[in-house]
Order: sequence, then structure tokens, then C-alpha cells
Amino acid sequence: MRELWIATGNKKKLAELERMLAPLGVRLRTPQELTRPWNPIEDQPDFAGNARKKAQSLAIAAGGVALADDSGLCVDALGGRPGVLSARYGGEGLDDRGRLLRLLDELRAVPDEQRGAHFVCSLCLCGKDGAVRLAVEGRCDGVLLRSPHGHGGFGYDPAFVPLAFHKDATPTTFAELDASRKDALSHRGNALRELLQRLQQDPSLLAN
Ligand code: IMP
Repeated sequence: MRELWIATGNKKKLAELERMLAPLGVRLRTPQELTRPWNPIEDQPDFAGNARKKAQSLAIAAGGVALADDSGLCVDALGGRPGVLSARYGGEGLDDRGRLLRLLDELRAVPDEQRGAHFVCSLCLCGKDGAVRLAVEGRCDGVLLRSPHGHGGFGYDPAFVPLAFHKDATPTTFAELDASRKDALSHRGNALRELLQRLQQDPSLLAN
């Protein structure tokens, strides 16, 4: 069975990738299986650069084909912040909930009609020599509520209402959707659908 190394230490993100990559029928492996710690520095100015850096470093360290996801939330009223710094927004010591509440606090004075935001997910697939084989990007546009709603998903999901639901009387956040409904709309779902289509057209992209 073919193997694919997944360049993430985020368990919730990994769960989303696992369920959407299931149709590939490959064995997914994680950096925790390496004998040496894998800690790439995410210092690139954009999602694509960080995804490339993570996929390249894991593919070389593992000696196998690796897929990386770099993703984040870009808020219109903050000029696109936190963007590539989404996982580190608010500094060290905050968890997902702390970052979400900090962001909502920063947006307290922003009126409803200016609360647009979008998620981006950049995926990069590298061969074991570190050469990029495929790079795709997905996006999901929406708005941010004033307080968290729902307990599913992760990260900024409890405040994010995808555009498909934002005119509803009670707008539904990503954290209130079951997994398959989030996948159908999300930035990660959009990127993975394109990736899967390209891999089905050319299965040799997964060859070691
Ligand atoms: P990365 O490991 O640098 O790609 O971090 C991505 C960060 O962006 C996560 O820690 C979350 O804060 C945020 N993020 C990415 N995708 C999602 C999502 O699907 N829902 C909520 N937050 C997300």
C-alpha cells in the first residue's frame, strides 16, 4: 500500500485531512513516527511558502512523499491578519479558545457589515527529494460573529459563518456543522477536492 506523510502536528487538522483523503486508499503517516523531532520554522510570508517548507522538510526527513497544509484566517477589518500567523495570534500561552476570544475582542468595535473574513488552505505535495509535485489552494469566505457558537471543529470555527449561511435568521458557524457539512464548504475541503482530482488524473504523483 502506498504511504503519504502528513506534515502537521495539529490533531484536529489531521482528522479533517484523514477523512477527506480516505478515497485515496493510502496509508497516512505522521511526523510523530519519526525517530527525530520534526519542527519546521513557519517563517514564510504566505500560506503557499509555509506549506512548501513543511512538505519539503518532512519528505526529506521521512524519505517519502509528504503533504503539508498551511492555513489560517484573514480578517478584512485587520487588513488580512492574523493570516499566516493564525496559529500564533495573541502570542505564546493562548490555546484555540484564548486566540478566538482575543480576536473577537480586537474586533469589538467593528460593525456587522464590516466583519468579513476568509479562511485559506494551501496544500503542497513533495517527493522524497523535496521537489514540489503539486500545490493547490482553497478558500472559504464568510463573516465573524460577535461571540462563539458551537463546539465542533477547531480554531476560529465557533465565530465563522460561511457566506452560504450568513443571511439565515440564525447563522450557523463552522463549529455547529457536522464534519461532512464543514468539509463540503471549507477552504480545506475546496483545496483537497482539487488535490484529489489531480491525483486521480496522475496517480504517479504519489509514487515514492
Ligand atoms: P498552521 O498550522 O500554521 O497551518 O495553523 C493554522 C491555524 O489557522 C490553526 O491553528 C487555526 O487557528 C487556523 N485554522 C486553520 N484552518 C482552520 C479551520 O478549518 N477552522 C478554524 N481555524 C482554522
